[in-house]
Amino acid sequence: MSRNILVVAESRGGSLRNVSYEVLTAAKRVADGGVITAVALGSDSPGYAESLGAHGASRVYAVTNPELDTYTTDAYFQALYQVIQEVNPDAVFMPHTAIGKDLAPRIAARLGVGLISDVVDVEVRDGQVVFTRPIYAGKAFEQRAVTAGTMFATIRPNNLPIDASGSTSAEVLPFTASCKDLRTVVKDVVQKMAGRVDLTEAKVIVSGGRGVKSAEGFAPLQELADLLGGAVGASRGACDAGYCDYSLQIGQTGKVVTPELYIAAGISGAIQHVAGMSNSRIIVAINKDPEAPIFQIADYGIVGDLFEVIPLLTEEWKKVLTAV
Ligand SMILES: Cc1cc2nc3c(=O)[nH]c(=O)nc-3n(C[C@H](O)[C@H](O)[C@H](O)COP(=O)(O)OP(=O)(O)OC[C@H]3O[C@@H](n4cnc5c(N)ncnc54)[C@H](O)[C@@H]3O)c2cc1C
Repeated sequence: MSRNILVVAESRGGSLRNVSYEVLTAAKRVADGGVITAVALGSDSPGYAESLGAHGASRVYAVTNPELDTYTTDAYFQALYQVIQEVNPDAVFMPHTAIGKDLAPRIAARLGVGLISDVVDVEVRDGQVVFTRPIYAGKAFEQRAVTAGTMFATIRPNNLPIDASGSTSAEVLPFTASCKDLRTVVKDVVQKMAGRVDLTEAKVIVSGGRGVKSAEGFAPLQELADLLGGAVGASRGACDAGYCDYSLQIGQTGKVVTPELYIAAGISGAIQHVAGMSNSRIIVAINKDPEAPIFQIADYGIVGDLFEVIPLLTEEWKKVLTAV
């Protein structure tokens, strides 16, 4: 059964975020010959048609209103709602990012449909689309299907593979939304972490906990992360202690990450932290306490002082990388 899917693309700083392509992967899995339409918001949106086409979209609604150059709930909500009314898709898929988490429930409520959030896998089984999502802070997974009405789902970053096997650039459909009575206007955006790797899209994360003991203690973690082209993360324990900014917090009330490699240094492995990183492909734990719960979910455990282990790892990786 073919399905027409609307994919909401997300961009930052003039380029598409990887999760936009992952959402297109989800759409391709279920479209079954139906039309995949993407929608991109902001003045740069027509320029995204080529890469959205290469990843599976056959047409792109480019909504170029200047009010959409930076995110506000009101403007994005109005624009997206109008595009959905125009396209009338069988399914709407969008990234499970800060923007997706803010926007999707509002749109679903206005459309009067259910929302399946934080999807980590999607497949068609006996003609029915089945979504998999974590529950109980990642301790279990549930599967859901939509039996009637528009399917609406948000897709967690870094879980579905990116597939760039599409051949052509997508057709661009310019669209001007009517954005009225906006209650918020963004005048300026001040970026805290400019130039660093985006934590939610990083392939390697070196994360520090209370065991790092100070802001200066994060320096060896940053050095290792830089060497591996990765990002530094943190537990809430480290953030609460003032060793680092809350923008680095990983966990239930922080960011959810799924890198190829997650190195947890001086982190005990509380359930709330594990909820944000347990789907990482390989987990390495470094902790002085052999009984620390983090070792229960680690693929590799190193019992030792992180201030000895991290510099040794950095040194060894340097040797390996210069030998390649
Ligand atoms: C509602 C709620 C939401 C929460 N959300 C989050 C969340 O999103 N993210 C999060 O992380 N936490 C969250 N927490 C807090 C969580 O419960 C833990 O308190 C927190 O994760 C502990 O941080 P930690 O592992 O860094 O510190 P600790 O538990 O104090 O662990 C420090 C670890 O460092 C080890 N260590 C010390 N020195 C060294 C050394 N030199 N070398 C190696 N190891 C060393 C110790 O053995 C210990 O295991 C939440 C809690 C609540 C109640």
